[in-house]
Amino acid sequence: MIKIEQLHKRFGKLHILQGVNAEIRQGEVVVVIGPSGSGKSTLLRCMNLIEEPSDGKIYFEGQCINEKAHDVNNTREKMGMVFQSFNLFPHMTVLDNITLAPIKVKGQSKSEAEQIAMNLLHKVGLSDKAHVYPSKLSGGQKQRIAIARALAMKPHVMLFDEPTSALDPEMVGEVLEVMKSLAQEGMTMVIVTHEMGFAKEVGDRILFMDGGNIVEEGTPEEVFQAPKHPRTQEFLRKVI
Ligand code: ADP
Ligand code: MG
Repeated sequence: MIKIEQLHKRFGKLHILQGVNAEIRQGEVVVVIGPSGSGKSTLLRCMNLIEEPSDGKIYFEGQCINEKAHDVNNTREKMGMVFQSFNLFPHMTVLDNITLAPIKVKGQSKSEAEQIAMNLLHKVGLSDKAHVYPSKLSGGQKQRIAIARALAMKPHVMLFDEPTSALDPEMVGEVLEVMKSLAQEGMTMVIVTHEMGFAKEVGDRILFMDGGNIVEEGTPEEVFQAPKHPRTQEFLRKVI
């Protein structure tokens, strides 16, 4: 579904991504781990072209998406993204937050968009919150709404950048549960997280990043139980 070839990202003189190669297959849950500053967010942001790659190629469903002729908006619609900060629109109700893009971008009717939104709210366990404003929600609820909002665009892949890092500990589980059920339904997902238990349980494949590159990848068993690279070993010693 996604293929990344020799991806480089520079910010001025800083060489942040240093030739990343990776593949994400349809239906796969790929978890990206690694120390702070290793380039995890930059990699995710390049995947959906929030950041413009400096060099290299990104293919999505067979098409190179980082060349001038490509329709960036079309690609972004097919990639749902969930951030650490929930980024809900504070002046809009939950329902309006979820239906905005489907109506404006996809041209759905209000009633169609609202019906889809209500189904998604049910899925994330928040049917009773359709008409409230984000300020009335807990962090965990906001993040579940952010996930529902991304899903409303019917993305082909979901990208998560530390979706639980800003949450109080007691709210982490409810968000991970929603992500787990998405995985079980076969959604293709790329997840940056420090939740190692979740990574082991839900991940099909783990990518360990350090210094702007993927230095090790494998199944959760391979990476967590028998890490090969010294930097992976050191990182896991610190976080587990
Ligand atoms: P991670 O998500 O693994 O913590 P990031 O991808 O956020 O790492 O950042 C990797 C490095 O790139 C960091 O040193 C960060 O300061 C730098 N960086 C990220 N975005 C920018 C930017 N817009 N301009 C300059 N440097 C950046
Ligand atoms: Mg990050």
